[in-house]
Amino acid sequence: MPDILDLARTQVLEHGVGLDEAQALECLRLPDERVDELLDLAHEVRTTWCGDEVEVEGIVSLKTGGCPEDCHFCSQSGVFDSPVRSAWLDIPSLVKAAQETAGTGATEFCIVAAVRGPDERLMTQVREGVKAIRDVVEINVACSLGMLTQQQVDELASIGVHRYNHNLETAKSYFGDVVTTHSYEERWHTCEMVRKAGMELCCGGIIGMGETIEQRAEFAAQLASLAPDEVPLNFLNPRPGTPFGDREPMSAIDALRTVATFRLVMPRTILRFAGGREITLGDLAERGVRGGVNAVIVGNYLTTLGRPADEDLAMLADLKMPIKALAKNL
Ligand code: SF4
Repeated sequence: MPDILDLARTQVLEHGVGLDEAQALECLRLPDERVDELLDLAHEVRTTWCGDEVEVEGIVSLKTGGCPEDCHFCSQSGVFDSPVRSAWLDIPSLVKAAQETAGTGATEFCIVAAVRGPDERLMTQVREGVKAIRDVVEINVACSLGMLTQQQVDELASIGVHRYNHNLETAKSYFGDVVTTHSYEERWHTCEMVRKAGMELCCGGIIGMGETIEQRAEFAAQLASLAPDEVPLNFLNPRPGTPFGDREPMSAIDALRTVATFRLVMPRTILRFAGGREITLGDLAERGVRGGVNAVIVGNYLTTLGRPADEDLAMLADLKMPIKALAKNL
């Protein structure tokens, strides 16, 4: 059998065909001493199929905490005894956050709400918020508002929402261990509707929640079959009070191996580091950006602090990685 990295060099780097589930599993099983080689190949794949640019994104929480769902990793669930309390952001604060995000050079600004799906109050806030931002700030507006109806999908597309985030969270075979209040199929359905409506789809999940290596490969293949424009990869940051609060954060080397493997499965996607990387990767975040990642979030995450925006931007400058500019055909 050919070595998996030799095979990936031909199949993925030269031909742009992503690894399948069995091939991904082989990469995830590579010994620690070959992880550098894996990361270097993932970086070559990324620059070949996506270019040098890194997409910078900002994120703001429009409605925080008090969600009725029971995703076991999430401190915004109202079902667990975690310290995040329910709160809403007003429209002027939303616009200010969009302005500050645009000021960092970011091209995407994502409005997030901790809900099962939007009710009329939230849709009204989003409608007004998106308009207020688009009136004064040059930035793509993205939303992450949970599961949608077809009518809500159509409305978000019609008001100019550029990208919609809805994560599958984990492999289908592990989903029932992570969430019991809704199904994997319900999540999948929202993702498909978003894509059909012409919005870009952002769909990823969280690694290190107790899934097996096989389930990581399964998850990568399931994401690839959905073909999202962007894949945010989070690493579990165990939050006090949640059912996964006492799990161990995954090791940096496992996180890097996973990121590089996901890049080889999805050569053309925007692959983003999302939450949890500070505790998992520490100073190795740089290695990830030279190991397949081509998008970063600046500033604060939803409920935990990320690194300050200027640190991330300085890291990209150090690595001589250009920041993607806003397309002028907005
Ligand atoms: S992940 Fe989303 S749907 Fe699940 S509990 Fe958290 S906010 Fe609610």
